[in-house]
Amino acid sequence: MITHLPEEVINQIAAGEVVENPASVVKELIENSLDAGARSILVTFEEELIRIEDDGCGMDASDAILCLERHATSKLCSLKDLETLLTMGFRGEALAAIASVSRLELRTSNGKESTRVAGGVVEPCARNRGTTIEVRNLFYNTPARKKFQKSHSTNVAQVRKVIETIALAHPEVAFSLAGKLDFRATKVWRERIEEILGPQEHEVSSEHGIWGFLSAPMINRTGQHLYINRRPIFSPLISRAVKRGFGTRIGEKDHPSFVLFLEISPDAVDINVHPQKKEARFRDEGMIFRFFEQAVAAAFGVPSMPQAVYFDPPPIQWSFQEPCVQDFSPVQAPLPVTFPDRPLVVRGSYLWVEKEDLLLVDLKAAQARVLFETLNPTTTPQALLIPILVELNRDEAEHGEQWAEKLNQLGIECRFLGPRTLSIDALPSAIDDFPRFFAQWKEGTELRLLASRFARGSKKNYSIDEAAQIWRQLQRCQDKRYDPLGQPIWVTVTEGLCDKWIKG
Ligand code: ADP
Ligand code: MG
Repeated sequence: MITHLPEEVINQIAAGEVVENPASVVKELIENSLDAGARSILVTFEEELIRIEDDGCGMDASDAILCLERHATSKLCSLKDLETLLTMGFRGEALAAIASVSRLELRTSNGKESTRVAGGVVEPCARNRGTTIEVRNLFYNTPARKKFQKSHSTNVAQVRKVIETIALAHPEVAFSLAGKLDFRATKVWRERIEEILGPQEHEVSSEHGIWGFLSAPMINRTGQHLYINRRPIFSPLISRAVKRGFGTRIGEKDHPSFVLFLEISPDAVDINVHPQKKEARFRDEGMIFRFFEQAVAAAFGVPSMPQAVYFDPPPIQWSFQEPCVQDFSPVQAPLPVTFPDRPLVVRGSYLWVEKEDLLLVDLKAAQARVLFETLNPTTTPQALLIPILVELNRDEAEHGEQWAEKLNQLGIECRFLGPRTLSIDALPSAIDDFPRFFAQWKEGTELRLLASRFARGSKKNYSIDEAAQIWRQLQRCQDKRYDPLGQPIWVTVTEGLCDKWIKG
């Protein structure tokens, strides 16, 4: 006889995929807290109790009920969204799964209303903005799984590891594991990394969105930490690329230690390979391999800096309301969507960014600054799949060799193939239209002016990904305030300024 499985049983089966052990519960809950924009996450871990408290955006009463249902998520509305997804969770499975194999209590407040949900009872409660989830008696109703659980001390070690792994990528968030770990929020990323992994040696920084540190080789792989868009990922491909980048600095059987971060447009990577989202697939594996190899090799090219490296304050979790209708849900109210490291909005060539303040950014000025600082021989250009061939006229061809040399000095990898052809093999990513750049450059335009003219003359509308990339690249420039001609790149939109606009 064929029957439909009851919802509860489906959840328990699904739970097996998401919730293997207490550490995976902690991981899912912390990721939810991060997605909710929490700045502080407290974990309590005892034999029969897991508690995660955060100060994130919280939920209203209807979401508090809905979030325990399977496939209820505020982070994904269609398959298309998977391509642009930057939040941690997206399957809407974790809470339902955990609730189906434990006794779960949820207390949450969005700052306006506070709700407690436990044992099917929904009631108002007292709580500051944020969410507390308590999970008791994990696997009480799945004895087979309960039997295979490890000892408490093993679980504690795993939970520690989970927190450390996530904390490495979120220095702006404070984490604590009662009595065991206590990471203060910091603006200096390296501080957090060294607190967890100890002193780091070689700094990696590449314009392809890769940065981090390398240290002396270890004989096993425990020392490899890779993050893609701040999500911990295991990638044999990238491990191999890093090893290749070490070249002869490492024995054939050794594995390098590293902590590396890659920021990449979400549509260039597929993180939906594994239910626990540990593996990634890249649209262009060859390119990713090359970028990592180059970035690692370049780290040894320059002497490493002994002093602390200050990164800009890590981006805040941008959080705003976006209408999102879920067809399985009775609630059609706008649900909160969070975008870590995302600008707020792009209009034409302007970007609104929330850092500590609200900033209005002139993307063209920013692009000019990035380009100007890129045009030098130390730049690692982006290899082109198909070289750009430039045909010179007869007079120009006389300068062919000399031009090629000069362009190489600007970080543009190029060869004069003769008799009239220049081949451009690799370009800084800030030059998105080489022929236009070349036309201005060969006139002998001074670099400041060239960078500025090139950027100002570029297309008018930027996509949010392009804007995000320029904004990221700007963070690595020496001067982040002015374009090469001295025009400001951004203004801070203060309350005073708004008053002036509105009230005149
Ligand atoms: P997913 O994270 O894949 O969306 P979950 O089952 O983990 O699925 O969570 C379901 C929904 O519950 C989330 O999309 C979010 O809207 C809400 N939620 C869960 N945890 C929190 C939290 N700590 N703070 C605010 N909202 C939360
Ligand atoms: Mg989740």
